[in-house]
Amino acid sequence: MPRPIHATIHTTALRHNLARVRHATPDARVWAVVKANAYGHGIERVFEALRGADGFALLDLAEAERVRHLGWRGPILLLEGVFEPRDLELCSRLSLWHAVHCDEQIDMLAAHKTQVPHRVFLKLNSGMNRLGFAPQRYRSAWARLNALPQVDEISHMTHFSDADGPRGIAHQVQAFATAVQDLPGERSLSNSAAVLRHAQAPEVRADWVRAGIVLYGSAPDHPEHDVGHWHLQPTMTLATRLIGTQQLQPGDTVGYGSRFTAEQPMRIGIAACGYADGYPRHCGTGTPVLVNGVRTRTVGRVSMDMLAVDLAPLDAAGVPAGVGSEVTLWGASRSGAVLPIDDVAQAAGTIGYELMCALAQRVPVVVEPDAPAA
Ligand SMILES: *Cc1c(COP(=O)(O)O)cnc(C)c1O
Repeated sequence: MPRPIHATIHTTALRHNLARVRHATPDARVWAVVKANAYGHGIERVFEALRGADGFALLDLAEAERVRHLGWRGPILLLEGVFEPRDLELCSRLSLWHAVHCDEQIDMLAAHKTQVPHRVFLKLNSGMNRLGFAPQRYRSAWARLNALPQVDEISHMTHFSDADGPRGIAHQVQAFATAVQDLPGERSLSNSAAVLRHAQAPEVRADWVRAGIVLYGSAPDHPEHDVGHWHLQPTMTLATRLIGTQQLQPGDTVGYGSRFTAEQPMRIGIAACGYADGYPRHCGTGTPVLVNGVRTRTVGRVSMDMLAVDLAPLDAAGVPAGVGSEVTLWGASRSGAVLPIDDVAQAAGTIGYELMCALAQRVPVVVEPDAPAA
């Protein structure tokens, strides 16, 4: 028998979360961001549930090929554009739209031989200082692109650094408005956090929104708001079983480095999940976990293949637990109890994004088909 660990992808939840984006930005078109293999979920596993989006946005040309291979004929956007000249051949062949964020990418386009002009998204650096043309260089970049026979429509995009936090987006919206003023073309500004937190602003709802994490049921502004606040549903469950138990006496320690010491007699369970499965080793004692749907905590260090959980809350409540009991590392238990991935991420000092993207190759994944309509 294989190890009992597995991940489940909830397609009903993906559909629900996409509907939340639609609801927040009813007049925008929605890019479903499926970079990083759909945030660790697997492009092929999320495709059916997300094909109600208007397009798919990603970074990797191989991933774009996979989306086309699934039969998607609508828009696909390369969020970082091309990396080398021959990537443009694939863009032509698969009719990919691509970001243009630097002069080198314009040079490549100018040298590219194509029958079909490309749709491009010119990227403004409005303050993130990662990719994009500085505001004072934006118009000349646009003029250069606009003069190329290789280029068809030019859209405008920028990316927010603080849509999830107190600084907000106003300064970047202002920079964007100034730079693109009276240039023709569609606009795309918002990521998930902007969609959820700033959707009242007309600029945020402009033409295309780029929704990633919200689709995967993690709150972009956790812990200020949780998934309950945003009415999102978990799309990935990581679950395993207990494969052993231990009875501890006061003074007994648990695991490598003896990081946990029992203060009173207590029972612990050993779950078949470790950092080689993608569970963060940074999660110290106290990280939330569900056993048979009951919320408890991890104790001691996470090892490569196992971690220990405190069974005292279950024993106190009279909930039976032992070898074979269901352990939910994040997501939904069979009882329906939910442990948000964001709670686990917080215990590891990171965000839900990193946990879902880090799900290890060795973890088998099952797709839970859509629940029948109620
Ligand atoms: C990843 C990414 C997004 C999606 O971000 P979320 O916070 O997951 O919604 C949007 N735009 C760009 C350019 C990205 O790289």
